[in-house]
Amino acid sequence: MNQQLIQDLQNTIQNIPDFPKPGIEFKDITPIFLNPKLYEEVITDLAKFSRGKVDAVCGIESRGYLFGIAIAVALDVPFILIRKKGKLPPPFVGQKYDLEYGSEEIEMRTGQLKPGQRILIHDDLLATGGTTEAAALLVQKQGGIVSQFSFLIGLKDLEGEKRLEKFNAEIHQLLM
Ligand code: AMP
Repeated sequence: MNQQLIQDLQNTIQNIPDFPKPGIEFKDITPIFLNPKLYEEVITDLAKFSRGKVDAVCGIESRGYLFGIAIAVALDVPFILIRKKGKLPPPFVGQKYDLEYGSEEIEMRTGQLKPGQRILIHDDLLATGGTTEAAALLVQKQGGIVSQFSFLIGLKDLEGEKRLEKFNAEIHQLLM
């Protein structure tokens, strides 16, 4: 556990009350990008968790790309985008998931993930786990092995971790 890094992140990430709706505390990670040294330390930490353990990184749109691509480059493995519905050209595979009201769908290009590959699924933040669970199902649909999940932030009281238990994958949440 890198206590100094955790402290620096706590001092940098801004908590915005009642955004985007009343009762939600939005974690604004954008100040991290004003500090290249801190960004580099985050990537070093996240890459260390996955080094030698995964064959590709899948990042979830859009903030999952901000760290996910750099993790993949540090690990020298491919990066695969998981996008919201309607953004990718065919061929692609999709996975629906439920939201508080209604449903959402995510998609991935077909053929980028090779069957049997060990996959790290990365996003900036784990809340209810709904998005990440759908990403993991999408990876499995294409024959990938869900080996690891990593997040910059895990919101403990929302129990997203419990939702991901069934994948038997390692979970790293830098800030909890
Ligand atoms: P969930 O599917 O509930 O785990 O939500 C995770 C996704 O929603 C992530 O991609 C986050 O970027 C975003 N998200 C959820 N809650 C917050 C929050 N409090 N602050 C910032 N982003 C959030």
